[in-house]
Amino acid sequence: MRNDIPLAPLNWFKTGGNAEFFSEPQTLEDALSDLAFAKKEGLEVNVLGEGANTLVADQGCSGLVLHPANKALSLDESPEGLVLEAGCGANMQDAIDFALERNALGLEEFAGLPGTVGGAAFINAHFFEYFLADFLLSAKVISLDGSVKEVGKDWFEYGYDVSRLHREKWLIWSVRFLLRRGSEFETAFAKGRAWEIIRQRSRRYPKERTCGSFFRNFLPEEIPPGSEIKVPNVAYYLDKIGVKGALRFGKASVSRKHANMLETEEGASSADVVGLAREMQKLVYKDFNLVPVPECRFLGFASFPLYTKDTIHG
Ligand SMILES: Cc1cc2nc3c(=O)[nH]c(=O)nc-3n(C[C@H](O)[C@H](O)[C@H](O)COP(=O)(O)OP(=O)(O)OC[C@H]3O[C@@H](n4cnc5c(N)ncnc54)[C@H](O)[C@@H]3O)c2cc1C
Repeated sequence: MRNDIPLAPLNWFKTGGNAEFFSEPQTLEDALSDLAFAKKEGLEVNVLGEGANTLVADQGCSGLVLHPANKALSLDESPEGLVLEAGCGANMQDAIDFALERNALGLEEFAGLPGTVGGAAFINAHFFEYFLADFLLSAKVISLDGSVKEVGKDWFEYGYDVSRLHREKWLIWSVRFLLRRGSEFETAFAKGRAWEIIRQRSRRYPKERTCGSFFRNFLPEEIPPGSEIKVPNVAYYLDKIGVKGALRFGKASVSRKHANMLETEEGASSADVVGLAREMQKLVYKDFNLVPVPECRFLGFASFPLYTKDTIHG
């Protein structure tokens, strides 16, 4: 357990302040003892993976930030297929490479996805038609009061960019994925596909100081009734208002490569990112009567820093 640890180096925007308490549990026992400490001291607990989808408040984060360090990977046979067990702190690409080296196929659809297994399971990471939930079999989760349980996929109540963990705090400790055993030929093909996905990603997305798509796509029910435009893709609206490579706020700007990706420069603050995102929300609202909802998670903010449907009018 350490105090006053800078979180800027630990998130992709490279912004934000310090964690009041910070721990990197490697074993389940470490995690349980950290949670017991937080309970005894009355500390709020938050989890940070690789910070590829998190904006940290400039004033930092009070309470305890857990940055899980269990990166264990193992593969077992089961009657249904191959089961990859991955620690929540394992990097997704490491998990994918580990599986491919052992002819276990499926997760290569997420090749190049920044972040940890825990972060991907939190949000039901997706890439084109694939969702992480398509492969997730079960997980070991820990409640903040320290009870550990093994849960099946249904427990997560996955939807698009959403899981039960968006309303209840749990620590995902490890995840089991059901994968398909491939022949040597199929595995070679899957490896090639992974490389191609990574190549496409590096052409289409910024490589650093971003959280990927900042806003999630709209849900069909969010499109105003009677609207002529029925496209749920938020990048469509952001492209239409012409922010790509053009709009900036302080040292944060909209990427030249993607209208829904925000980038920071050296010296940027999280307030710059918030200011930019709010400006984007106002512009989309003005032209389309829609309020983009962030996919990015906020850590350490006293209140939700962006506009909602209820606050955008003010
Ligand atoms: C360039 C770029 C491209 C991207 N492309 C995609 C994409 O194609 N598809 C996609 O879905 N996402 C994409 N993202 C977003 C990001 O990769 C995913 O959201 C990823 O899963 C985040 O993982 P993380 O470990 O960095 O999570 P963090 O940002 O550290 O955390 C995100 C959320 O997960 C929670 N969390 C993390 N670990 C745990 C845990 N063990 N237990 C409980 N909660 C936990 C955190 O509390 C937080 O609320 C992209 C990001 C970047 C930077």
